Amino acid sequence: MLEKEVVYEATLDHDFLDEIYSLPGGKEVKRCIQCGTCSGSCPQGAVMDHAPRKIFSLIRAGFRNEVLGSNTIWFCSSCYSCAVRCPKEIKITDVMYALKRLAIKEGKVTEGRKSAVLSRNFIKMVNKYGRNHETELMTRYIIEADLLNAFNFAPVGLKLFSNGRLPILPHKMKNVDQLRKIIRKVDEMEGI
Ligand code: SF4
Ligand code: SF4
Repeated sequence: MLEKEVVYEATLDHDFLDEIYSLPGGKEVKRCIQCGTCSGSCPQGAVMDHAPRKIFSLIRAGFRNEVLGSNTIWFCSSCYSCAVRCPKEIKITDVMYALKRLAIKEGKVTEGRKSAVLSRNFIKMVNKYGRNHETELMTRYIIEADLLNAFNFAPVGLKLFSNGRLPILPHKMKNVDQLRKIIRKVDEMEGI
């Protein structure tokens, strides 16, 4: 037991909490009273490594690797059920987004790797064209994260293509440079 505690202490990051506080919406984590309403409201709780309430508790205790390496942040479907019910009005979904960005930045994505690849490439598309380009997004996703399943995507891909939902060329937004400036500014503000 003692040995386990020593191992835990060695892996704790006591600056993690301060770091989370500095992220958008992160300061609110301080107000969490561990009531569990978020976990009870979460439709994804059953498949998450740690339900949202526990994630907040782990953040406070300095379990950096446990939090950033968990599937919780990737299995969050951004349904906002937790956020609208939280008695302390904590923007839980926003915190999940901030944790996703931090996990990608630190290369800590494990089980949620596929979601991270999708998320990273979606951002890439928006940066490039000002909007998503589904064909390129799915091609990048399959190559980077799901090559072994490539043929399984074929039937649905063909259906989407024949319905005009997978355009070969992207539709670039006008004034995409202005959008890029905004994205860069947000990245700077979040220290990405
Ligand atoms: S509902 Fe809000 S206060 Fe309650 S555990 Fe979840 S985050 Fe904390
Ligand atoms: S926003 Fe995410 S964490 Fe909150 S209830 Fe929905 S899936 Fe769960």
